[in-house]
Amino acid sequence: MQVGGLGRYFIEAASLEEVIQAWEFARSKQLPLFVLGGGSNLLVADSGWPGMVLKVAIPGIKETPRPDDVLFEAGAGEQWDRFVSHAVIVGCAGVECLSGIPGSVGGTPVQNVGAYGQEVSQTIESVRAVDRERGKICDFSRTECEFGYRSSRFNGRERDRYIVVQVSFALRKNGVPRVEYADLQRYFSGRSTPPTLAETREAVRHIRARKGMLLIPGDSDCRSAGSFFKNPVLSDSEFGELAARATARGLEIPSYPGLAAQRKVSAAWLVEHSGFSKGYRQGHAGISSKHALALVNLGGASASEVIALKDEIQRRVEELWGVRLQPEPVLVGF
Ligand code: NAP
Repeated sequence: MQVGGLGRYFIEAASLEEVIQAWEFARSKQLPLFVLGGGSNLLVADSGWPGMVLKVAIPGIKETPRPDDVLFEAGAGEQWDRFVSHAVIVGCAGVECLSGIPGSVGGTPVQNVGAYGQEVSQTIESVRAVDRERGKICDFSRTECEFGYRSSRFNGRERDRYIVVQVSFALRKNGVPRVEYADLQRYFSGRSTPPTLAETREAVRHIRARKGMLLIPGDSDCRSAGSFFKNPVLSDSEFGELAARATARGLEIPSYPGLAAQRKVSAAWLVEHSGFSKGYRQGHAGISSKHALALVNLGGASASEVIALKDEIQRRVEELWGVRLQPEPVLVGF
């Protein structure tokens, strides 16, 4: 978002050994440690971060063919979209719908990144991390990662405990792409042959660009942290209440089945039906002109202006719809 203050110390670690050295340094100086991936999903306070910022920059993608699939072991510092591109080029399915997402590989298991019907939890086989309590290396199986909707043990019950250093994915050789969401189906409508993995990747990038969700240098709608609010997952009774409020206003809220006995609803719809249109401005902060969920720095915004806008949206949505939107970016130093 290009807002917020400085970190007191910054270190970029290009290997597991350097991550451990950085962790030891921070511990010996009793510095609070913030682990940075790609930096695309953050809002940093105007006062900055009083301790050490550790950027995990471990590179590398190792591929091992197996009888039923291909194992990809990727360094946490690899750019996520470069990893997706590589998987698609070598004909492996499972992450093609996650094209164009900024950030690094190491950040993806933390919030179980997902889009257009795919989530990394569907293909992650294991995660390697450094335990910040003991300085030890730990390996987690998919089950041990405790994945949920945009959640895992790494942002849940053990938030901030582990530094992810490597993620292993099992991808399907010659697998077919997933074309499930309406946006993708519309893109391919009228075609007689199923799209290839590469075409699906291109389609997702095209759709994301249209929504201002692809980083394009010079586009001010991209000065955002992506979606600022999570799509709420409601219980049946909460959803019933929300749907009744919508009906009373002659509206119908888009919703989709969630986990057992739950409904996912569109956060963008709630924002737009609470008096905030695309392109809304409040001081130097605003809403993207392409997507109601992206808060943007219109140029020279402070973190407190962004927070004031976030608070205003949350307040108004809750007042009208009885749903408290939860921010999605990591808030640092607040
Ligand atoms: P969208 O596609 O308009 O979708 C809005 C909501 O409707 C989401 O909760 C989405 O669920 C749900 N949905 C839409 N079609 C669905 C279907 N066929 N089946 C089940 N659920 C459906 O949202 P958007 O804001 O433009 O974002 C596009 C995609 O990027 C979405 O999948 C969104 O979740 C994802 N995204 C992910 C992150 C992240 O991982 N941190 C951040 C921003 C956006 P899902 O959320 O389950 O897809």
